[in-house]
Amino acid sequence: MANCASHTILIKGGKVVREEGVFLEDLLIRGERIAEMERFPEHEIHEVVDASGLLIFPGAVDTHVHLNDVFMNTVSVHDYYTGTLAAAFGGVTSVIDFSNQRHGDPLVNTIKDKKSEAAGRALIDWGVHPVITDPSPSTLKEILDVVEMGSPTIKCYMTYREEGLLIANEDLELISESLCAAGGMLLLHQEDNEMAEAGIRRELDRGGFSPLHHALSKPTEVEDAAIRTAIDITRRTKGRTFIVHLTSSDGLEMITGAKDQGVDIHTETCTHYLLFTDEELKREDGVKWICSPPLRDAANQKLLWSAVSDGRIPMVTSDDAAYSWEAKQYGKDRFDRCPNGIPGVESRFMSLYSEGVVAGKITLEAFVKAVSCTPAKIFGLWPKKGNLLPGADADIVLLDPTESWEMNRDTLHMSADWSVFDNQKTTGRIKKVYSRGELIIDGENCVGDPGRGQYLHRKLPDHLQY
Ligand SMILES: [Zn+2]
Repeated sequence: MANCASHTILIKGGKVVREEGVFLEDLLIRGERIAEMERFPEHEIHEVVDASGLLIFPGAVDTHVHLNDVFMNTVSVHDYYTGTLAAAFGGVTSVIDFSNQRHGDPLVNTIKDKKSEAAGRALIDWGVHPVITDPSPSTLKEILDVVEMGSPTIKCYMTYREEGLLIANEDLELISESLCAAGGMLLLHQEDNEMAEAGIRRELDRGGFSPLHHALSKPTEVEDAAIRTAIDITRRTKGRTFIVHLTSSDGLEMITGAKDQGVDIHTETCTHYLLFTDEELKREDGVKWICSPPLRDAANQKLLWSAVSDGRIPMVTSDDAAYSWEAKQYGKDRFDRCPNGIPGVESRFMSLYSEGVVAGKITLEAFVKAVSCTPAKIFGLWPKKGNLLPGADADIVLLDPTESWEMNRDTLHMSADWSVFDNQKTTGRIKKVYSRGELIIDGENCVGDPGRGQYLHRKLPDHLQY
């Protein structure tokens, strides 16, 4: 049930995790927002939640999820209900989904489509990245419209020609210019199409059909070439660019170097690149790990962790793309026919806590930045989201930092009929999740109603700082 405007909840005795550090302090919710403690005498508090021994985080912000995604002859099993339900169990209170433009259709339909998909179903707040597939003059004119409709982050693919997603470099440049003028940001899927297509052909020609050949077909060089192009375009147009799902340590060096020279370019990596290496592709069930860019080797993975730790990679998303087991089997004997993607919207927060913070690879502060604060800042949601200061939306996660459990298909709530986790020992478990002041996850139960999630009307900051 939604909180009335004056209902107050005191979360008492927990440790609040902020970018600046961890503080033993109480947190007050009034209606949908975080309120100032001093203003509230004890007798005005309606409900007290004992959070002793728990860590308190701002709700996680996952800016890279694919709901109802039609791709490679299938559609993802996470829709606006099942996907946001799994997200909520995983401490996520805001998601941003991708909406592919249909060829010949107006770009504004990408937002309208998602509003109808979300109606009556979304459990948490959600936003849209329109995806341009048809860079016609009329599409370019609509860029300002979608920015003003609150979806200022537009994605383009530098590959997937056969799937009808590839945008040529000349068009990327025009899109980047229009976005720059409108106050938007260009998101790029960074794989060089010519190199990717040649690599796939090379592997198939030499009889390499198994999942491992997916990684061999698109080594880091394919990604690095696309990043080089992306930096050039951004430099020329003076636009703002975001490289999604970075996996290459050389690519990171290029981005860091360009950023140091004043190029407005930003990046993320995704959970699975930190948890798994290309070794998984050698398994019997290796198709599970087919995603793009492909998983990399252990040395590269180590560099990704250190970049998350020191902030060179400032945020981590799930790239949740949950296809059915039946659809993943298209790739069993032909890696190029496998729908690329791994379900992970629910596991992201707890995996990164366990494998990152508990394992000593990143600090709690780096963790909260990567999963909550920085995605909110880069994607125009700060200070409303990813923040626990008075005035922010009361999106709150309570985590028991010591509980040990096994992560597998049965203990998670994602809808795919398979999992990349075989009883993964995990430390730290989410106990409660609040979204705009309303308790939506209480232990093993979802107590929020589908349809309560609201469209996130976003505006990007002129000068991005994080
Ligand atoms: Zn993606």
